Amino acid sequence: MENIQMLLKQGAVGKPCAPVVAVGDKVKRGQLIATPTGLGVNVHSSVSGEVIEITDDRIIIKPDDEQPEDYVKIAKGSNLEMIKEAGVLGQGGAGFPTFIKIYDGKNDKPVLDHGYILVNASECEPGLAHNIQQIDEDPARLLRGIHYIMEIAGADKGIIAIKKKHRETILKLDALLKDDPAIERHLLPDIYPMGEERAVVRECLGIELEPDKLPSAANAVVINSETVYSCVAAIEDQKPLIDKNLTVRGMIKGGSEAHVFENVPVGTSVQALIDRAGGFDEMGYGEIIMGGAFTGKATTLDAPITKATGAILVTRPFRDLKGAKVGILVCACGGNLERMEDLVAKYNGTVAHVCYCKQAQEMPNGTRKCERPGNCPGQVKNNLEFKKAGCEYIIIGNCSDCSNTVMASGPKMGLKVMHMTDLAMMAVGHPLYRTLKVSKKVDQDLDVVDNVEDNETVQ
Ligand code: SF4
Repeated sequence: MENIQMLLKQGAVGKPCAPVVAVGDKVKRGQLIATPTGLGVNVHSSVSGEVIEITDDRIIIKPDDEQPEDYVKIAKGSNLEMIKEAGVLGQGGAGFPTFIKIYDGKNDKPVLDHGYILVNASECEPGLAHNIQQIDEDPARLLRGIHYIMEIAGADKGIIAIKKKHRETILKLDALLKDDPAIERHLLPDIYPMGEERAVVRECLGIELEPDKLPSAANAVVINSETVYSCVAAIEDQKPLIDKNLTVRGMIKGGSEAHVFENVPVGTSVQALIDRAGGFDEMGYGEIIMGGAFTGKATTLDAPITKATGAILVTRPFRDLKGAKVGILVCACGGNLERMEDLVAKYNGTVAHVCYCKQAQEMPNGTRKCERPGNCPGQVKNNLEFKKAGCEYIIIGNCSDCSNTVMASGPKMGLKVMHMTDLAMMAVGHPLYRTLKVSKKVDQDLDVVDNVEDNETVQ
């Protein structure tokens, strides 16, 4: 077994933890190895072995040849204490500490006032399958977890937000929810993005939040479904968050189907997961993305997965644009300028112009949030700018709806439209994000409307 690398910062937010072990220490699977120095969560070893190196950002452990199934249990305490002790963080995005999200520790009170726990089961990034598989395998555990969290957070109601295409899973949930009046499910349209917190609030509660507002402004907490399961593991099994479910997919030998791996030790390398899936396809690949195609980042084979990693996507090879002029349209839904520039370089294009969607508002932390998701202001002005700058291609990162808006004028002006997710979508067998033919509204009756997303290819 390869060495395991436990990053001291397991989510995108917060500060690195401080190690509480030293080089040469023997550690057991589940043993606490680092504690927060600010915003963050406990880190436990995902394997039994020996600490062989500690750097500024990670603890490297050489695993024993024999690995136990069991783990060092966290101490019993209140449900909130156990979630905190287990190091549970948001597993659908930035990795915010869950114990802070659901309880106001400063004022020692629940964060909600008879509010809502909205469970994000949208598995929104295209091509991912591990969240839905987990729900499918044990929906009752999800409901128990929602009740634990409702009690801690002060919620009267739980709502599971799930895309309508997951019919079999929804039927399983419905069978249980008949006897559980405190929890209901809400069907989401099969478009991107539906998993963004404000989108979940809007879809479930009909409340439009400003970009700088959190779901708490709607008396709600949005929590990813896998995070709910991790809370149950902490409470019922006294299990620290040491294993992760994830999807590996793309240019993998044997085809584009999703490889869902459950209970992968945190700290496992990208290379080990690709090997486990079958190795690279002979056609080669373009890049490896850690996370989803929209919000993930290009990564390397030796990078370790964290508690918040959702996917490893291996994309099609880049084609050579031979230095052609490319315009970049930066949107709140997709990659930032740095990521888009990286893609243009990998395509061997030349960045000729950069535009920002006027609704992609910059937040104090440098990220962008859409002012009015799903209500695109139109992109004609930006397309005209690209044309004027002599761009032959434009690369966009827009959501389903706004890609459609770009397509309304870009090709007519002679611009060749590429989407940042194209090579990942081709690799996973998903339609490209171009022209949208799908209802943004979903009838909540499971038998009425089906979503059909139909996109054009310009590649
Ligand atoms: S309006 Fe559309 S293109 Fe603009 S930031 Fe929002 S989602 Fe992105």
